[in-house]
Amino acid sequence: MEVLIIGAGIGGLTLGLMLHRAGIACRIAEAAPELKAVGVGINILPHASRELCALGLEDALSKVAVITREYCFFNRFGQYIYSEPAGRFAGYDVPQFSIHRGDLQMVLLDAFTARAGADKVTTGMKCTRVDYDSAQAVAYFEDVNGEPLPPQQANVVVSCEGIHSVLRQQLYPNEGQPKYSGINMWRGVTRWKPFMSGASMIRVGWHHPAKLLIYPIRNNIDAEGRQLVNWVCDIETPQYKARDWNRGGRLDDFLPAMANWHFDWLDVPEFIKSADAILEYPMVDQDPLPRWSFGRLTLLGDAAHPMYPRGANGAAQAILDCRALTDALKANANPVAALKAYEAKRLPETAKVVLANRSAPPDAILHEVYRRTGDKPFKSIDDVISREELIALSESYKRVAGYDKERLKTVG
Ligand SMILES: Cc1cc2nc3c(=O)[nH]c(=O)nc-3n(C[C@H](O)[C@H](O)[C@H](O)COP(=O)(O)OP(=O)(O)OC[C@H]3O[C@@H](n4cnc5c(N)ncnc54)[C@H](O)[C@@H]3O)c2cc1C
Repeated sequence: MEVLIIGAGIGGLTLGLMLHRAGIACRIAEAAPELKAVGVGINILPHASRELCALGLEDALSKVAVITREYCFFNRFGQYIYSEPAGRFAGYDVPQFSIHRGDLQMVLLDAFTARAGADKVTTGMKCTRVDYDSAQAVAYFEDVNGEPLPPQQANVVVSCEGIHSVLRQQLYPNEGQPKYSGINMWRGVTRWKPFMSGASMIRVGWHHPAKLLIYPIRNNIDAEGRQLVNWVCDIETPQYKARDWNRGGRLDDFLPAMANWHFDWLDVPEFIKSADAILEYPMVDQDPLPRWSFGRLTLLGDAAHPMYPRGANGAAQAILDCRALTDALKANANPVAALKAYEAKRLPETAKVVLANRSAPPDAILHEVYRRTGDKPFKSIDDVISREELIALSESYKRVAGYDKERLKTVG
């Protein structure tokens, strides 16, 4: 049995590590000419962190990431609404990591090549099509110049190609454009002195005029002890450009919405103006698909269930897919049945997260306070919303996304 994984992103590399641990042969074909540390921040929530720690990666991740201590919520006037601990600080048996996507990818790549062999990852191979039936799968590739490469046969092919999946398009040629939420996102990283706990994930305001998410992703990056701090600003915006993780953004398009955000814990305009680089990304997703598995071909991660990049679930759900697919391949001698079993488990679960991210996101607390106060400052948060209601809103998202503590206690 050999699994051919298409894409060496977060899902592809994690799947490689899990299959290798299970004794299932695999290799990875990646379109990029080389694997470089690209992207900005990602959070690894406890359910996903548990899987990575079980792969023996806790030490490697702890060296490069910030161990998230707490979530904090403020309105756009800088008034404190709510906070709660995260990861081990909240009683989970694993840490939550705030990490640069590139650092996460490199930790996974180093572990995979050390364990499975460097020859198991080949770059410069863009998959263009897969022929599949119940007996075999053959993947076709081209090199970085668009020249065809020899086809590759495998027992199973898994598309871990991310949001621009060619194989999803092959399976669903009439799917159409991604759905735009009406919210555009500007993202970046800033070198800044630690503030608040130095490991806080902070959410401020609501999409009109602006919502800001901030968390540090690297510690001690220079002699002054600064951190690399990730931020994402969401603004309701009618127009947007096609999704591209590397598209550059402009300060003038979003900073004016936060011009007065001079808080005692952070001067937001100064902080944003000091960013290394600014990226722009539309909050888009795609409707859940009716199926992912076709004979010996299946989809995983963003290729299977692109969702709004909010709530740190893009990476987490990809990692959970890897665990379910590996378990299914271990349990079923017939690969076609295994891919169906994987789909039966993960498709409904991820569909719920896609839909929750649209209607009841992890920052629903901020929306509720915005709605109840009419976007005005409050005298006391207790007059606006009770602590019990705040906790209920927070727990509700964790349950849908699958990382409430009760559930993690029962899942093996
Ligand atoms: C350049 C980049 C930057 C990103 N930045 C962020 C970020 O800052 N914050 C965030 O939350 N998420 C970011 N993401 C997305 C995030 O990694 C995913 O949402 C999540 O981790 C799920 O992982 P995935 O494996 O499904 O997809 P990805 O991690 O996107 O990996 C997909 C991989 O497949 C490769 N690939 C694509 N098509 C083909 C093909 N036809 N043949 C072979 N290989 C192919 C890609 O080059 C990539 O390496 C980024 C993704 C990319 C590719």
